[in-house]
Amino acid sequence: MGSGAAGCATALTLIDRGVGDIVVIDMQQHPRARIGESVPPASRAVLQRLGVWQAFHAQGHLLSAGSCASWGHPELRYNDFLLGMQGQGWHLDRTAFDEMLCEAVGARGGTIVRGLRLRSAERSDAGDYALSLEAENGASTRVTAGFLVDATGIAASVARRLGVARNQVDCLAVIGAVFDLKAPDAVPSQALLEACADGWWYAAKIPGHRLIAALAVEPSQHRRFADPDTWRPALHATQHVARWLDHGKAVPAGTLELETALAPSAILSRVVGERWLAVGDAASAYDPISAQGILKALCDGEAAADAIAGCLAGAGQTPLLAYQDGVFARFRDYLRLRRHLYQRERRWPLSPFWHNRLLHP
Ligand SMILES: Cc1cc2nc3c(=O)[nH]c(=O)nc-3n(C[C@H](O)[C@H](O)[C@H](O)COP(=O)(O)OP(=O)(O)OC[C@H]3O[C@@H](n4cnc5c(N)ncnc54)[C@H](O)[C@@H]3O)c2cc1C
Repeated sequence: MGSGAAGCATALTLIDRGVGDIVVIDMQQHPRARIGESVPPASRAVLQRLGVWQAFHAQGHLLSAGSCASWGHPELRYNDFLLGMQGQGWHLDRTAFDEMLCEAVGARGGTIVRGLRLRSAERSDAGDYALSLEAENGASTRVTAGFLVDATGIAASVARRLGVARNQVDCLAVIGAVFDLKAPDAVPSQALLEACADGWWYAAKIPGHRLIAALAVEPSQHRRFADPDTWRPALHATQHVARWLDHGKAVPAGTLELETALAPSAILSRVVGERWLAVGDAASAYDPISAQGILKALCDGEAAADAIAGCLAGAGQTPLLAYQDGVFARFRDYLRLRRHLYQRERRWPLSPFWHNRLLHP
């Protein structure tokens, strides 16, 4: 269930390992535009292993030299991939990227089914899963699955229906908008992070001479900043993001439409079970400040598929449990990184956003 990066990477690797009869089901008719498009240089290797590097390359995603941040201090400091000898990252056309992965699954013999939402999942006496799926017009369909993969993102739709608890460490509300750039060459290719009293801003050029600017705040501030009359002045009050907009001669793409998303840091209490597993954000979701979600979804998709192939070949739960250990270990590493990042910004200790993150690291 779920045709995002995690679902497609799992399907592509399963097909590569000789597992047949793969069906990827998604509730959306088409991948939707959304905030979140920065991927690091290490993505190249996994895209090559998945056999989609040429298709990715042909899509013309924007090269990214790394990131720069005003974090813990007012001035910008640079963290360039090139200095770390890692090559370049990318700012994706996210919709085209997700579509490309789905097309690759279809081209290799997998089946993509769109417009069906999971309603229920029940285990039969034979050990299969009976899935009830609902179309947008309310029509329902039943499908039987010999192995069930939850790749439904932060909804974790399968795991929740199987009664698995989700542990949430933190949650941000992110409110962003896309701008057209009349002078795109005047804006650097790095991603920009700028801390402010209410949270932090993110800005990056994206394909099509556009720029995305987004503010991450406490979920309790979501409604306040989802109002353009609050969001826009907050944007203009920034030091660096506002300067990039100014240099790039940015104008809102259409009327200023704000897109909002919740970004939890969370992990399931169990990532695998009897003939099911969770992968990508459904299994573990990271703060977007880490910019690791898409790469993690692709890599965990590969690891999940290897575990499933091992299980179906007769190795029982052992490969699934090893996969779960890996997901848990990487989440612990991520928590350390998150703590380290938030502890480095101490300019607004009394603001609820920073107070909460310093108090509950
Ligand atoms: C604001 C924000 C900014 C981000 N920025 C970045 C970034 O710069 N770089 C980065 O690497 N990551 C970023 N991320 C994280 C990244 O978007 C995710 O980690 C990544 O999309 C996870 O992929 P996935 O395949 O697990 O889930 P998703 O991409 O969310 O895919 C899940 C799919 O499941 C489908 N689905 C859900 N429920 C059901 C159901 N009941 N039935 C059927 N289908 C269902 C959905 O339609 C969707 O297509 C960001 C996240 C947020 C919220």
